[in-house]
Order: sequence, then structure tokens, then C-alpha cells
Amino acid sequence: DILGKEGVLEKAREYNVKFIRLQFTDVFGVFKNIAVTVEELDRALNGQVMFDSSAVEGFVRNRENDIYLYPDPTTFEVFPWRPRDGAVARLICDATSPGGGAYPACSRSALKKVLQKASESGFQFRVGAQIEFFLFHTDSQGKPTTATHDQAGFCDLSPVDLGENARRDMVLTLEEMGFEISSSHHENAPGQHEIFIKEDVAPAIADKIATFKFVVRNIAQRHGLHASFMPKPMRQVNGSGMHLHLSLWCDGENIFDDPTGDLGLSKNAQHFIGGILQHARSITALANPLVNSYKRILPNRLYPARVAWSERNRNTMIRVPVQRGDDTRIILRSPDPTCNPYLALAAVLQAGLHGITDKIAPVPFLPEDSPDPNGFVEIAKEDWLPRSLGDALRALAADKIIHEALGEHILRRFLEVKGSEWDRFQSEVHPWEVEQYLANY
Ligand code: GLU
Ligand code: MG
Repeated sequence: DILGKEGVLEKAREYNVKFIRLQFTDVFGVFKNIAVTVEELDRALNGQVMFDSSAVEGFVRNRENDIYLYPDPTTFEVFPWRPRDGAVARLICDATSPGGGAYPACSRSALKKVLQKASESGFQFRVGAQIEFFLFHTDSQGKPTTATHDQAGFCDLSPVDLGENARRDMVLTLEEMGFEISSSHHENAPGQHEIFIKEDVAPAIADKIATFKFVVRNIAQRHGLHASFMPKPMRQVNGSGMHLHLSLWCDGENIFDDPTGDLGLSKNAQHFIGGILQHARSITALANPLVNSYKRILPNRLYPARVAWSERNRNTMIRVPVQRGDDTRIILRSPDPTCNPYLALAAVLQAGLHGITDKIAPVPFLPEDSPDPNGFVEIAKEDWLPRSLGDALRALAADKIIHEALGEHILRRFLEVKGSEWDRFQSEVHPWEVEQYLANY
């Protein structure tokens, strides 16, 4: 039931929609929206709603702040948690320039450009996402804490798992909004959960990832909890990742599968992996965009920190699970859920396509778990993902192939804003330093 413009107008009437939120994403993956009333919907669908974007992070261009929002009718969804009478719906939009054409700061358009290149080679890009997050309590002022329900649960006489109820509510709401959810479960750490969004084509999957974060936070709030996608909120427990299941399709067939190939993988699959490994460090700047992201991907055998691929070794950034046939996929394990899904997927696809065009060998491959748990100390530094946001940004600044996927404007704004975030962190004196040094030196 793919909707066109007429379908949207009809559905808006049928659901008695009063407000439509026109959503788009800033350069850093934060959903923004402006609301229009249903009377404006027709104009909105024609891309006639103009918007002053000067306050949107990464959007400012010399004097040119007016953009048009061009809705994608297939993204029309009514918010299930809003009143039925005078309902609220949303449309995800591309930002376009007043003169026509994609606005250079629009990351959804950047992804669509790389998808266009893929489709010229006959490829369709399918992605699934396992998204992890924490559910935390808020304090008496409503500010998020790092206290989890699970810990509080120990003392409860009648332990009602708020987290589990909230998670069930999230899954049901997402399904009402057209998501297919493969599974959901409680993750390793107390208060940590995972929901697996089933494979879909891009850009729809990027829309879903962006929508997911916004829905999960809303539902958590309705349960009196705070949902956090922060990659590593607490030192002593696992962080939250967003493992991406990637495959390329051609004429309805999964072209990563080849029963006669090495490990049952096609040459295209191997080269796609080769391309991602070659561009791994610059992809990291986009897939792990916070200072805090790098506390999750430390070189340690529990973390997906090694620039390598394998079948079983969970220390590598890419793992190929045992499924073959149409279920053949590679899992990119390094990204975290704070990334801008449009830019992260644009970079990953660009890297994979580069691998296919240049027949880049997928090296290194790790056959087994590293035999020595401390083995990482001996491995050259180059084998690891960047250790900090600063290192990742330097890699991104030097990667011409990935620049093409982002375009000049996004690249420049991303490096500026993230560079200054890294500088601010670097110049901060952290409590750890005071604790370690103040008394002793
Ligand atoms: N939480 C881990 C991560 O940050 C993943 C754990 C798992 O394999 O599900 O990637
Ligand atoms: Mg998980």
C-alpha cells in the first residue's frame, strides 16, 4: 500500500487528521519538523511549504536560508499515540533549494544520490537494524538519570517490569506505523533493550531508523522512563550499538549469495566488504559521531573494534553470519544509534560500491576468535578503528571517495561542528583526571 499524493489526501480525510508534521533531518541526524494544518496539505505535497532553516544545525549557507520541504508521500503515517479526533500525521521530506534541486545540506538527498548510482548498476540496497538503547529513570525534576528500572526491581515485592511493558508498547506502536519488527529482547546490561527492525530498502530503512528513535523516546516518556541511545552511558556495562545487516539485490535476488564462492559468498559480496574495510576509518566518523562513541568501540575482544571481517570473531567490525540463500548478509557491527542514518548508510554504500568497482580484496579476514585474549596488544594500531572522534574526523577529511557521497557542504559543516565538539572535549578537565592526579602530584 504505497501512497501517492492522492492517497495521502484521502487517508488524511479518513483518519480525520488535523495537523501534519513535515519532518526532515539536520546534518547530525536530529529529526526536525514544522507542523501544517490539513488545509495546507495539498500545498505541502506540492513542495510549496517554505521554511527558514537558519537555525538548523549544519543547514546555514551564505544568505541562503530559505528552503522548501518536499514530502515523500510514501512516508505518510498517523501517530498512533495522538488523539483519534484531530489526529496528527507526519511526512518525511527532502529539503530542496528555492531554485529547485536537492538542498546541499539534505542528508536524505545525499543518500538518494548514492542509491541512484547503485541502481544504475542494477543494485538494490537492503538493510536491517538491531538497535540497542537504555531505559532510565528520571529524577524528581524530570531530568534523565543513569538509574535503571532493573536495579530498582530487585527491591520490589511485586516486580512489574516497566521496561518490558514499555518495550512491548514500542514494538506495537512501531508496527502500527508500518514497521516490521524481527524481534526484541532485553540486552546484556541492566535496563538495556534491543529492537530489531527487519530489512527494508533504502531510503525507507533510514527513515525508519530516524523514526524509531523518536517513537521509542516518546513511548518511554509515556511510561515515565527516559530512553537513551547514548553509546556508552556507563563505564562498567556494555554500550549500545546499532548493528546493520546489509545486502545487495538485483532483480529480486540476493546477489551476496553464491554457493560456489568462498564461504558461499559472491565476488560482489567480498568486494563490498573490501570497500567497507578500506574506508572503515572515515565511515566511523559518520557511524560513531560522538566523543562518547569511542568509549564503546575500544580495542577489546568484546567490542567490534577491529578493521577486519570474520564469521565468528566478535572483535571485528564486520561479521558474516551463517545464513545463506536470500538471507545472506554482512553485519556491520561498529555503528551506534546516535549516527545520522542517512549519512552513515550513504558512506557505507559508497564504500561498498567502490569495493565492487575496484575489485578491492576483503582483507584482513579473521578465521577464529583471537586465541589470546590479550592478543590485541600485539596488533598494529592501524588494524583498529579510530580511537577517538578526532582520529575519525582526520580520516574522514582525507577520504575523497566518501566526500563524493556527502557533497562539499555536508562534509564541511560536519567537520566544522564535530571538530569543535572534539576540541571542547579535549580542553575540558575531567573528574577522572582530578581524582587520579590532584592528590598525587
Ligand atoms: N552491545 C553490543 C554493542 O555495542 C552488542 C551486543 C550484541 O551482540 O548484541 O555492539
Ligand atoms: Mg544486541
